[in-house]
Amino acid sequence: MTKTKIKKSIPRRPFVAGNWKMHRTASDTKILIEDIVQRVQKVATVDMVVCPPFTSLPAAAETLGRHSILALGAQNMHQTKEGAYTGEISGPMLRELGVRYVILGHSERRQYFSETDASVAVKAEAAVGYHLRPIVCVGETLAQREAGETNQVVETQIRGSLAHFPAAHLDELVIAYEPVWAIGTGKVATPKQANEVHHRIRKLLVTLFGEAGSSIRVIYGGSVKPDNAAELMAEADIDGALVGGASLDARSFFDIIEAARPVRASEND
Ligand code: PEP
Repeated sequence: MTKTKIKKSIPRRPFVAGNWKMHRTASDTKILIEDIVQRVQKVATVDMVVCPPFTSLPAAAETLGRHSILALGAQNMHQTKEGAYTGEISGPMLRELGVRYVILGHSERRQYFSETDASVAVKAEAAVGYHLRPIVCVGETLAQREAGETNQVVETQIRGSLAHFPAAHLDELVIAYEPVWAIGTGKVATPKQANEVHHRIRKLLVTLFGEAGSSIRVIYGGSVKPDNAAELMAEADIDGALVGGASLDARSFFDIIEAARPVRASEND
């Protein structure tokens, strides 16, 4: 892997999460987690999260142990504490397994399971009530990008998805900008394309939440791989990555985490 580490001052702690989607059984999870944990032992400057399927969460938690530097995330959550919602999983159920983060509004959930900005807003507000940190996903389709609607689409999604978000919990929020056309396609946004949108998101967050908006992490997702991660994360407004496919390979996931690690001055001198 080519490491093009570029020095920049990073006021926000880098954040890298792996979205395993519907991959890995519980027993496969143990093997992958053990491999990742071994590699990331010495990484102290990046927040690292893995989001396996619900059924693998207990195995992941057990393998990680209580004080792991790798946090556990879920890929979705129902907003209600409990009730007659067949097939759903609640925040307290996730918390009891040691889950700390939850991905909300991923484009696959918006596309295949009819999630909307309004439903994401309800879940995001509920998540913090259950002490789960939301990773709220937004991003335009190819048709929307080609029609020049990217900024408008992303702004609408953020305003809608954070409509009820409590100001007191802003430091727990992570936004993932994931252009739909780049997810699982191998077509990655150029660092400039991605950073332009991240910059707009940052300005919007400050407009919505004042100074607190400047400390919310905004991470990029969409075919992030070891060979493009460093360039993406060298951009001023990209604070990390939400990684799909490449997070299923411990070496690739570790290389992406390494690319997100802030460069110490001495490393570049
Ligand atoms: C994702 O699942 O959020 C994602 C970005 O996937 P991939 O990295 O495979 O494009």
